Amino acid sequence: MRFKYRFSMTEDEPFEYISPRAGAGLVFLCDHASRALPPGFGHLGLAPELFATHIASDIGAAEVTRTLAAHFGASAVLARWSRLLVDLNRGEDDPTLVMMLSDGSVIPGNRAACVAERIARFHRPYHARIAEEIAASDGAPVLISMHSFTPAWKGRARPWHVGVLWDRDARLARPLIAGLERAGFTVGDNEPYSGELENDCLYRHGTLNGLPHALIEIRQDLIADDAAARAFALRLAPIIEAALAGMGAAHIRFTRPLGATAMDEKTRESLEAAAFRRLVAHLRERSDVQNIDLMNLAGFCRNCLGDWYREAAAEKGIVLDKDEAREVVYGMKPAEWKRKYQKEATPAQQAAFTAAQKKTHS
Ligand SMILES: [Zn+2]
Repeated sequence: MRFKYRFSMTEDEPFEYISPRAGAGLVFLCDHASRALPPGFGHLGLAPELFATHIASDIGAAEVTRTLAAHFGASAVLARWSRLLVDLNRGEDDPTLVMMLSDGSVIPGNRAACVAERIARFHRPYHARIAEEIAASDGAPVLISMHSFTPAWKGRARPWHVGVLWDRDARLARPLIAGLERAGFTVGDNEPYSGELENDCLYRHGTLNGLPHALIEIRQDLIADDAAARAFALRLAPIIEAALAGMGAAHIRFTRPLGATAMDEKTRESLEAAAFRRLVAHLRERSDVQNIDLMNLAGFCRNCLGDWYREAAAEKGIVLDKDEAREVVYGMKPAEWKRKYQKEATPAQQAAFTAAQKKTHS
């Protein structure tokens, strides 16, 4: 038994699952882990030897994923079946979900494929497992997806050893890229592919959940067999560890849209903004509520809200000073609000505040 912890892959699950040691806060994914096909699919009409090539799986990626999961005590969800059956790194409505053609090879077994059946049997359970894993984690887990790419594409050599793919959340990608470069790797920043694929695996589980994430692509000749893959994973491990530390504590960046209500991102953001404005309006109306009571009860107050606004602005390169940002919440200069509404804190409030601070800082 190679794994010290629970490892499951039963007959009917289209994924391999490695469960975490407590509190790892890290989930590894490997959408293209396998070259295998479930019983009844033959070789999809392809020459069997094609299943040893990159069109069937991301060579080496599974062993890298298992090694990293073991190293970090993290959970991992890996595809059990080949991407030729159904591509788990595509949205359900993506036209390349079930490929008709891959790197020049027609896939006869996919010509008359029942896409809905492939989704129901293989695609949905895989993503449901990832969603459950995220839901079961404490706080905000970090997602890292492992892939591999061919050394050459359409006759051109690819110079990168490793690629880091990301979309709009660079929290993890930036320190990862910097760390890999420091370690002497030639790194592709959104190369050889772009990470901006809407509805791909990390968009769905990372971006929409607001969780820190990155996709790591490794050149296949560097992880061509299991021993090389394990050795490479152990070179990556300290770089990933440093990047996680450099990123700071993981936290949720966005709220997830309601599953049943389809809305575009702009609409969702405008609803979130409306809720924020209503909160601010409410706090302005309820000027009888003291900041110290908010702090004692909920660990945040009007000043915190203003500071969060300032931090959000800073991430967009907009510099606000503290009072300026807090004015958004107060609707006036913070000093003026204080003069008008803030009461002398009672000894009981003070004592509660000291106790609450101790609780959060211990
Ligand atoms: Zn891949």
